[in-house]
Amino acid sequence: MLRQLRQLGIRDARVLDAMARVPREEFVREADRGSAYEDRALPIDMGQTISQPYVVARMTELLDVDTRDRVLEVGTGSGYQAAVLGELAGEVVTVELHEELATAARDRLARLGYANVRVEQGDASVGFAPGAPYDRIIVTAAAPAIDPALLSQLRPDGRIVAPVGPRDLQELVVIGADGRQERHGVVGFVPLRGRAGFTS
Ligand code: SAH
Repeated sequence: MLRQLRQLGIRDARVLDAMARVPREEFVREADRGSAYEDRALPIDMGQTISQPYVVARMTELLDVDTRDRVLEVGTGSGYQAAVLGELAGEVVTVELHEELATAARDRLARLGYANVRVEQGDASVGFAPGAPYDRIIVTAAAPAIDPALLSQLRPDGRIVAPVGPRDLQELVVIGADGRQERHGVVGFVPLRGRAGFTS
């Protein structure tokens, strides 16, 4: 997997090291364990997916996480991205809409020893105010737009990485501390639901 990620242009050694340490086979279905290190998204419960490793690596690289950072992840899913962040950040708060997925991810991350990752259940399309402010916010479901609530929960020198755009195809958007937006290519995520998500 690491060789593939390097070939695809992932250069950040911290990100590559973190991805090497997280056992992705623990985050996929039993039947998919054999494909866990292939560079593709895989199905998880509730009709959701664990993202493609390249996309996890790229978004993590763009997030530019420091060891002291508090990070919010919107969309826990399997908990894989949260584990990668847990390897790099001081503290990770990850929020999942579906109770079943939140519970499974919480158990999994505890079993794997990620004491600095907290899994919450709820609608985080408008962020997660009880844990704010955050140094970094990563959205791992397709968002129609960056909700102002996310910006209000970000530290002044913070940064947001999110797939923004219509349901079928989005652009990876990075919002820096100065409010400037950069675009980093096309991705395809499952839709963000909830108050600031897609309704259909
Ligand atoms: N980061 C995950 C993959 C995310 S898939 C991983 O590493 O496995 C997107 C997830 O976002 C799904 O599990 C979906 O249920 C969740 N989601 C969708 N809308 C949400 C919302 N408003 N708040 C929190 N989670 C949401």
